[in-house]
Amino acid sequence: AGIDFSSQSTIVTGASSGIGAAFARALATRGSDVILVARRLDRLRQLASELERDHGVRATPIALDLSRRDAGQTLAGEVAARGLAVTGLVNNAGFGTDGPFHEEDPDRLQDEIAVDVANLVDITRAFIEPLRQSGRGILVNVASMAAYAPGPDMAVYSACKAFVLSFTEALWYESRPSGLRVLSLAPGLTRTEFFDDLAGGAYHGSYQTPEEVVAAGLRSLDRGNRRPSVVSGRGNALATALPRFLTRRRTVL
Ligand code: NDP
Repeated sequence: AGIDFSSQSTIVTGASSGIGAAFARALATRGSDVILVARRLDRLRQLASELERDHGVRATPIALDLSRRDAGQTLAGEVAARGLAVTGLVNNAGFGTDGPFHEEDPDRLQDEIAVDVANLVDITRAFIEPLRQSGRGILVNVASMAAYAPGPDMAVYSACKAFVLSFTEALWYESRPSGLRVLSLAPGLTRTEFFDDLAGGAYHGSYQTPEEVVAAGLRSLDRGNRRPSVVSGRGNALATALPRFLTRRRTVL
């Protein structure tokens, strides 16, 4: 049976653009209150008023820098201070540095690990008990195809996203008795500000839309807690070829 999101309240990190904003919209459309987290408060406020106006849900913007060390506790405090109950969590905030590892700025790499991994863990830990107790909501972690296909110029990014896949799969097993539905998304190329930054907006190839990524994720969640990871977009072809690819690599070794 599909998930009933009415009277739920879902945190979406990185909700100020791209996949996170699309996720917040999709959840609000289905009746969930949303707690919108990112640094750009103006964007969050704009989205919150749109969602409250169009869907009659409560939408709460919270400005937070997820490269900070104490993000999980800070967010838990902000949520508690507003008296909000949380039934779902979408850990979507993330970014990728892009360049040869030996040229990367070490501080920037630490920020990347903080946003993509350390605070994803910290925020999940801060809210896992209410999520499990509610047993009606979702826990979605946004990984990337890069997790399956690490490449040059994205060593730390690929490794962060591989962490997210393994972390989520382990929680997927743990969550079964509670009813919480757990999923990681491993999108292929998706048209968002992510690539505006990386490629200076020079789009090539076939990009999927953030809405398509979110729809694939929600379709899987609606079917139940059946799969720990959904690959979408151009990544699909890669994922299908993956077992063969891995076997070949093993033969070479
Ligand atoms: P965007 O750049 O559009 O969105 C990234 C979001 O993360 C923004 O809302 C941004 O908010 C937030 N964010 C980044 N750094 C911080 C920070 N320090 N503190 C708080 N929030 C932060 O890109 P996408 O929508 O594409 O990215 C969303 C997720 O999807 C990421 O995890 C990315 O790795 C993943 N992904 C993207 C793919 C793609 O092709 N686009 C493919 C595979 C995975 P703000 O700047 O306001 O803080």
